[in-house]
Amino acid sequence: MREILHIQGGQCGNQIGAKFWEVICDEHGVDPTGCYQGESDLQLERINVYFNEANGGRYVPRAVLMDLEPGTMDSLRAGPYGQVFRPDNYIFGQTGAGNNWAKGHYSEGAELIDSVLDVVRREAESCDLLQGFQVSHSMGGGTGAGMGTLLISKIREEYPDRVMVTFSVVPSPKVSDTVVEPYNATLSVHQLVENSDMCMILDNEALYDICFRTLKLMTPTFGDLNHLISSTMSGVTACLRFPGQLNSDLRKLAVNLIPFPRLHFFMVGFTPLTSRGSQSYRALTVPELTQQMWDAKNMMCAADPRHGRYLTASAVFRGRMSTKEVDEQMLNIQTKNSSYFVEWIPNNVKSSVCDIPPKNMKLSATFIGNSTAIQEMFKRVSDQFTAMFRRKAFLHWYTGEGMDEMEFTEAESNMNDLVSEYQQYQDATADEEEDYQLDEVHDDGHL
Ligand code: GDP
Repeated sequence: MREILHIQGGQCGNQIGAKFWEVICDEHGVDPTGCYQGESDLQLERINVYFNEANGGRYVPRAVLMDLEPGTMDSLRAGPYGQVFRPDNYIFGQTGAGNNWAKGHYSEGAELIDSVLDVVRREAESCDLLQGFQVSHSMGGGTGAGMGTLLISKIREEYPDRVMVTFSVVPSPKVSDTVVEPYNATLSVHQLVENSDMCMILDNEALYDICFRTLKLMTPTFGDLNHLISSTMSGVTACLRFPGQLNSDLRKLAVNLIPFPRLHFFMVGFTPLTSRGSQSYRALTVPELTQQMWDAKNMMCAADPRHGRYLTASAVFRGRMSTKEVDEQMLNIQTKNSSYFVEWIPNNVKSSVCDIPPKNMKLSATFIGNSTAIQEMFKRVSDQFTAMFRRKAFLHWYTGEGMDEMEFTEAESNMNDLVSEYQQYQDATADEEEDYQLDEVHDDGHL
């Protein structure tokens, strides 16, 4: 068995993580007490990827929950699936991080990190063959962002050959009222570029827009946003959890999606979009799913794919449908929109079909795209960062926790470099690459 170890940190990370587990427990037939109540062997075939089997046949999420304050975890524990988690996998402090990345990464977080690592180690050791880790967190706060990235770097040190995936929530002023979030987010990106293999970007700006414009929710709540996130997380992980061929483990997913190691930030999308509690009012057809899946309006990242080009993409279709029709429709999109795909990576779009649909749906599709357009989101955060950093506003909160101003400067330029790299590959054409190679040969004097 190739197990995945899930870790959730901070308020946002714990809230979206809890929803993710509610959804996948349900999909695998695991009830809130950990008992199997399902009806299909397919639910159990790969259940060990995410669940440990405890005495008495109970299924326990392979999940570690961390926070620097007890509040979120208390409500989680009291929630519908609070008892499904192993009690000693809840690790929390009392102080909080007060939306300060430095407290999460350096002061308060550094004090708690060893007790988290002990639990991570214990879980990892009980695995048969661990494939990797997934972390859910926000980038704009203190704990999930600061301590989350501290944990990611410690795990990278201890398990350098395991895959690290993050589900990272990007801050937006539309949803949040803390001004220092662009600082926290930029410091987080600086870490994630180096220490994570894949980041699924969940941008509160886009999630808010989907709720408001598409789902017509006038005052979207975190609950509404998190409903979109949990559907997407369930879709992204479906091919890891259920039997199938393509992208069946984290490494295969990574190999297909990442042409250059730093460019591993993905736009994810889901269709059909539904609001909480409501059901999709009609089943979509494969052509409709395909159409919507590529639509900018269905992307959980506020960046328009038509402003960039796809380096790679993957799609997971769920439900009973014809694989042939899926392949035809996906090919159709690529042929009609060929200028939006870099021509120098042939066959850069992969799709897979998983027989088991999400609850209350007949068919669904999840999209993971490596688009150069994601630089729009990084630019947005970078502009907000620079506006404040130019005047060194709020810096004392960070230096007061022992942080050096240099780290801000480095984080800023790392993110700007990332934007330039996306731009460079957006502009690259196959011809240019050939010219370039020829030039090189000339320089060597071989031709
Ligand atoms: P932490 O507890 O210190 O990690 O801080 P938070 O997780 O509260 O981080 C603040 C950021 O997360 C802000 O950008 C919030 O808008 C966002 N956030 C907090 N809770 C949620 C949530 O439940 N869902 C979503 N989508 N975003 C959240």
